[in-house]
Amino acid sequence: MITLKEALQLSKEELNTFKKELTEKIEANKDLNAYIDVKDFGEGIPIAVKDNIQVKDWSVTSASNILQGYIAPYNATVINKMVDAGLSPFGRTNMDEFAMGSTTESSFYGKTLNPHASDRVPGGSSGGSAAAVGAGLAIAALGSDTGGSIRQPAAYCGIVGMKPTYGRVSRYGLGAYASSLDQIGPMTQNVEDAAILYDIISGSDDKDSTNAKMDDKVVPNLDPTRKLRVAVVPKYIENASEDIKNAYKLATEALKAAGHEIVEKELMDAKYDISAYYITATAEATTNLARYDGIRYGNRVEGKNLEDTFVQTRSQGFGDEVKRRILLGNFVLSSGYYEAYYVKAQKTRHIIKEEYARVFEDIDLILSPVAPTVAPRFGELANPMDMYLSDLYTISVNLAGLPGLSLPVMKNSEGMPIGLQLIAKAYDEQTLFDGALSLE
Ligand code: GLN
Repeated sequence: MITLKEALQLSKEELNTFKKELTEKIEANKDLNAYIDVKDFGEGIPIAVKDNIQVKDWSVTSASNILQGYIAPYNATVINKMVDAGLSPFGRTNMDEFAMGSTTESSFYGKTLNPHASDRVPGGSSGGSAAAVGAGLAIAALGSDTGGSIRQPAAYCGIVGMKPTYGRVSRYGLGAYASSLDQIGPMTQNVEDAAILYDIISGSDDKDSTNAKMDDKVVPNLDPTRKLRVAVVPKYIENASEDIKNAYKLATEALKAAGHEIVEKELMDAKYDISAYYITATAEATTNLARYDGIRYGNRVEGKNLEDTFVQTRSQGFGDEVKRRILLGNFVLSSGYYEAYYVKAQKTRHIIKEEYARVFEDIDLILSPVAPTVAPRFGELANPMDMYLSDLYTISVNLAGLPGLSLPVMKNSEGMPIGLQLIAKAYDEQTLFDGALSLE
């Protein structure tokens, strides 16, 4: 598959030929179920788009039954920025329903397969985007990351996935999961393409009140020869599989060989991250999902009266995982439990942020695993608790609002890709990409 950098050099004719071939290739690989549907929206370089990002006049469903039939009335800001740069949305990619999950098994459209092993998950929730790029069915894709949903499927599918600093990329037109954690980001074949796509989609937007309104670019200053101070966290890998432990050691050596200084650091136990995340994310999700009542968007199941219509629509429209989170979110926000759960989670979030700030006082990057194992087999994470626990390496980055990038570093003996993550200071995407380039 050609890279995004190469695609930017194609003539109009070459691009049209490429798109025809790409459409045929996607059709021939339908079993993967990476795309929900494919449609060419204009002249630009085709980019796959997760099914929770609005493209005007196109269906957008967050892979949920409740949004069947809903047509986006406007473009997400990232889509407008892409179009301005000569890119165009090309296919909607599969995902966990409302981005809640780590496997893409909870989609209304059925599961997506991992391109490296059809009995394994592609990761989630941006599993369709990761599988499309990993299988050579997309030059690049957009995903969204609330607690790891770009970085983890990227690691499972052997591609690069990057979550920007909170506020760098406008969330206008992104189907909200947890608004204080969500960010859209690039999923690409290599680090340089991720930097190119990041530059295109990031920047000012008046339509998102949490937008950082910063327009600096990374591509003009990319420098893989910069010497950085990189923290490794030996405690991190204690709970990881042998594959991940090996990759972590190997990457540490590679960073040393590239001339970086390696510093050992400690961070607080990830079990607090998981609690703080699942309380915060479900509380926000409960609020965000209240709007799907059958009146304003998508599917409606007519009931005996208005309230019954709400109940029937939501009971039949949402899947099990989404319902579980709505219940959990309502519980932690309810009076009597609010102080004990929600407020405590916010305090914990603050401590996590301070922990990172302390580590970043004298270092540039942190090297971390992305997930405790390579891509699990279907059904392995059937217990929701096991699935939540597998997020331990990615969610604190969202809680602290930091940028993180997952890149493939090796394959295990079964040929499954292993990705590792670099984490940088808030708004220091430049260092993140520079460091990642030196490790690629
Ligand atoms: N797996 C995490 C969750 O289910 C993260 C999902 C995401 O980043 N959208 O909440």
